[in-house]
Amino acid sequence: MKRDIEIAQAVEATTMKPINEIGAKIGLQANDLENYGQYKAKLTYNAIKQVKDKPQGKLVLVTSINPTPAGEGKSTISIGLADALNKIGQKTVIALREPSLGPVMGMKGGATGGGQAQVIPMEDINLHFTGDMHALTTANDTLAALIDNHIQQGNELNIDPRRIQWKRALDINDRALRQIVIGLGGPTSGTPRQDGFDITVASELMAILCLAEDISDLKQRIANITVAYTYDRQPVTVADLKVQGAITMLLKDALKPNLVQTLEQTPAFIHGGPFANIAHGCNSILATKMALGLGDIAVTEAGFGADLGGEKFMDIAAPAIGHTPDATIIVATVRALKYNGGVPVAELTNENLTALKKGFANLRRHIKNMQQYHVPVVVAINAFSADTAAEIKLLQDLCAELGVQAINTEVWAKGSAGGIDLAKAVTEALKQPAEFTPLYDRQDSVENKINAIVQKIYGGKHVEFSNKALQNLKLINKNQWQDLAICMAKTQYSFTDDQHVLGAPEDFTIHVREIIPKTGSGFLVVLTGSVLTMPGLPKKPAALNMDVDENGVISGLF
Ligand code: ADP
Repeated sequence: MKRDIEIAQAVEATTMKPINEIGAKIGLQANDLENYGQYKAKLTYNAIKQVKDKPQGKLVLVTSINPTPAGEGKSTISIGLADALNKIGQKTVIALREPSLGPVMGMKGGATGGGQAQVIPMEDINLHFTGDMHALTTANDTLAALIDNHIQQGNELNIDPRRIQWKRALDINDRALRQIVIGLGGPTSGTPRQDGFDITVASELMAILCLAEDISDLKQRIANITVAYTYDRQPVTVADLKVQGAITMLLKDALKPNLVQTLEQTPAFIHGGPFANIAHGCNSILATKMALGLGDIAVTEAGFGADLGGEKFMDIAAPAIGHTPDATIIVATVRALKYNGGVPVAELTNENLTALKKGFANLRRHIKNMQQYHVPVVVAINAFSADTAAEIKLLQDLCAELGVQAINTEVWAKGSAGGIDLAKAVTEALKQPAEFTPLYDRQDSVENKINAIVQKIYGGKHVEFSNKALQNLKLINKNQWQDLAICMAKTQYSFTDDQHVLGAPEDFTIHVREIIPKTGSGFLVVLTGSVLTMPGLPKKPAALNMDVDENGVISGLF
């Protein structure tokens, strides 16, 4: 069986089209595009402005059950669905996140889909692409350097070095940088203090890039970031440091959405990449707006399960886009549901209807959760070769009991041809009325908003706040930040904050460790359980399999 990279490389060498031809399919002229080589381009600001004013198409959100080691294939389904929609005559454009190098080198693999449903050039997209991640890392660390320099040069703003909230960032899983001491080396090398790194995709700048409307909005949001507190606990912002112009300047190109293509030449915007477990988990709102303005249908994806990325899309991204989903697709696999039903990974290829029925509890809760938003829901069963006809039928029957269609989808194996049934079901779903209802009212108290997510989405009973979190709440109320949205940081593997609890547990408590105000992105990051904002590498990192030959051809990247 061919690996993802081999399939991608074969198409890249034969049928991949110059990016201007892909742009032309959706009405973009050569001067709307800033080319990065032949196959990648950014939209110009002029083009972005024009597309924003166009009538918008329908928005399809792809989300999933809780991820398992068995694999779900959300990006694969998003890409295959868009190819299939185009095949049946619906002009469709994709908007997805850019991969982070952390998981690429670690364990997850890329974020460019798989099998016959991929975006290309996959090596570029998974590695340095158009430099957006590097620009974000540089901008983030420039701000960190400016804060430390301010303290070094007399600390006019009275910043308490023990209360600096702004961390450094790197787009690599590097556990050794989670907690560090900087400024050692005497008076010329700065003020010693405790610091730490977050992975770039968890940084506030990434969130801001993904939520900004345009350069002015980007600059305003950057100005609003709270970087530290003074000795008398007053917030210090980027505006106080007077460096919003410089930081925005470093991101002026990164803000422009990137255009690439699928293996079947569907136009795809790949832009912005916050993780959904520790950040808000959706590609840039600009990319989604471009897809909505240029296509009759825009397909977008929210990271991890519907409890994390799905909820944050509905409650954070959709209000920022100004367009709520017209249909929601929940991706599930027979394998992952059997895993949720207690089957070990090694036995997932054996038919097991009892475990499937038991593990279905996970999908059932995600379906009910997404239905709370009053948007039509369709389940996409991402077909794996070991699935049996009886298992597929059982899964479809269980979904039918909830009034939801579950479509067996073979885009990984067959490309668009394997997604026609799903495309037709989605087209039908888009004809149904969607009367979006938000989960919580922004004006409600922070505790109530967190409770709403825990009870209505996770299925938990209580929220327990640590002493630190209670102090954070006081500070939030004192500074009148209580109306900000909630961005939960929780393990992606479970509805609870313990990654080992699978299925659909009930009556549990969510433990809130800390609440970090992100006044630039406009949300409060609520850290639960032991979730980390700088991941580590696994025992056998994916990097061990990677290589490049003397012609620059890459292997082992999935
Ligand atoms: P997600 O978006 O949920 O993280 P991806 O779409 O990135 O998942 O897929 C993860 C990996 O699983 C990819 O390497 C892909 O090739 C593989 N994969 C996805 N769907 C299938 C399938 N139906 N059969 C076999 N492998 C698959």
